[in-house]
Amino acid sequence: MKKENISKKILYWYDNNKRILPWRKTTSKKNKNYYTLVSEFMLQQTQVKTVIPYFENFIKKIPNLKKLSNVNDEKLMKCWQGLGYYSRARNLKKTAKKIFSNFKGSLPNNLEDLKTLPGIGDYTARAIMAIAFNVPVVPLDGNVERVLKRVFYLKRESEISKDNLNKKKSFFGVSNRPGDYAQAIMEIGALICKPASPSCEECPLSKNCISFKKNDFEIKSKNKFNKVKYFEASIYNNKEKYLLIKNNEFNFLKNLLIFPMKEVKKDKFKSSIDSKVNIKISNMNMKIILNKNNKRNKIKGDFMLDKNNINKIILPSFTKKIFETVSKHQ
Ligand code: SF4
Repeated sequence: MKKENISKKILYWYDNNKRILPWRKTTSKKNKNYYTLVSEFMLQQTQVKTVIPYFENFIKKIPNLKKLSNVNDEKLMKCWQGLGYYSRARNLKKTAKKIFSNFKGSLPNNLEDLKTLPGIGDYTARAIMAIAFNVPVVPLDGNVERVLKRVFYLKRESEISKDNLNKKKSFFGVSNRPGDYAQAIMEIGALICKPASPSCEECPLSKNCISFKKNDFEIKSKNKFNKVKYFEASIYNNKEKYLLIKNNEFNFLKNLLIFPMKEVKKDKFKSSIDSKVNIKISNMNMKIILNKNNKRNKIKGDFMLDKNNINKIILPSFTKKIFETVSKHQ
């Protein structure tokens, strides 16, 4: 089938089936750029349906790039609270500041400059180019990867490399509505070519799809393992109040409140009789011993938090999970 027909079929499907998302609504160019920036940061590690209420609240509280560049950190974190991966919020503010200091307050409209902004890698830069600036690029997200792997029936490790998948994107050709086209291809992956059960009967690509012809939809994934790391958290409490510290030590959960913690060797974890908790964070599986401490070791910037107030302050779900486990063992 001609590429032109593929793009027409995909856009026809998109126009009739796309989700109504708050960052897609018709608005001024300036707002569109801001909405694209905020939504792309939020979507980096989080699903669309989770992002929607956070996005709406964020835009209500911090309605434009100027306000974002000057927002105080407490308000910023409050808007992000619960969405996780807080470095995204910090990078978003840094990006807003840098847009004013280096780009006269306008989101740059080329890949090279976009990638100099904190928190913007190749994927996000391409998504911004397509959606905000209507440039014909198709970002390779998990959805697009899955569609390509199925259409071309890619099963071997060498076939599913990023390089090869990027080459295979030429299958989609170009369209005269590049921003919509990029979103349409991603939307097919999200709504139709789903990981477990693709709805091929609704798919505009079924005639071109080898997986559909073979009736084999298994997806080959790259071998990727999360690192396992071992930690010991020190739990000190005075009745209902628990000692927390502002994290300046670890690269994850930076500047957020955590229990005092140190990394330990696997052997210590295995031999410990204290209670334990497993938490997955970024690309790390954390195994944490919860060690009750009867003495308060004074640490700079520490803080006694009443456990009845854990929902009243900005606390990462990481720390809440440890609170839950501690409560069960008391
Ligand atoms: S035909 Fe089925 S497997 Fe192929 S791209 Fe469409 S939904 Fe995915």
